[in-house]
Amino acid sequence: MKKFSIAMLSMVLAGSMLLTGCGGSKTADSSSDAQDSSTSTSDTADYKLATEGTLTMATNAYFEPWEYYDGDKIVGIDPEVAQAIADKLGLKLEIMDMDFDSIITAVSAGKADMGMAGMTVTEDRKKNVDFSQTYASAIQAIIVPEGSDIKTADDMEGKKIGVMQGFTGDLNCTEQFGEDSVVRFNKSAEAVMALQQGKIDCIVIDNEPAKKIIEANKGLQILDSKYSQEDYAIAFAKGNDGLRDAVDKALGELIDDGTVEKIMNEYIVAD
Ligand code: GLN
Repeated sequence: MKKFSIAMLSMVLAGSMLLTGCGGSKTADSSSDAQDSSTSTSDTADYKLATEGTLTMATNAYFEPWEYYDGDKIVGIDPEVAQAIADKLGLKLEIMDMDFDSIITAVSAGKADMGMAGMTVTEDRKKNVDFSQTYASAIQAIIVPEGSDIKTADDMEGKKIGVMQGFTGDLNCTEQFGEDSVVRFNKSAEAVMALQQGKIDCIVIDNEPAKKIIEANKGLQILDSKYSQEDYAIAFAKGNDGLRDAVDKALGELIDDGTVEKIMNEYIVAD
């Protein structure tokens, strides 16, 4: 993990140098564009990027092990896979942390090139963004205090269910149990506190973050009864086919050569 932290630090430093560079020499940059189009992959590739030469990833970095802060660095499975994709495309990687609910808007508006945030492919989201191939699967887990009378997903009927705003746990529970049953939080730590204080009866969240929550908080457990099966993919602005195809090809190669699995094994300990 140490090796990785250093790698991420240099990425962050490279990112901030890049930002400084852009801010300080905007006119010079744009005039040199016309003269030399071979300096960056983005000039020759069949896609536009939010920032030239940089793959900008929008995420919500409160979703360990997929993305989370280690000090002031954003680390996790998604940043590592994104870095490997950026390397293949000859681009720098920049990560923008935002509310999960803002990711699709940022990508659609071209502020970020892709959304990568353990994001589940849903029919509704497909109306607003295009997705890459899927690179991981997940299950919605149910966290309860030890001794809870909630033993299965159906037992959540009539209970106060803690969910993260806009996550699939929110969407699914709202649809199944109704608006009055869900209590929405922006950060899982807030939901955990509410569960420990008895303000809610359970939390529905993706299984790997659920395991991290259980590890860090005594007295809570994950039910054997799972809620829903989902697939994660990377989101792109609708119609940004050139970039989606390039990232998708790179991602496919990283899946095929075992890189994605290797990265996941670094962060996910088998049950
Ligand atoms: N997989 C869930 C979803 O897509 C949660 C994702 C996240 O919080 N990063 O809604």
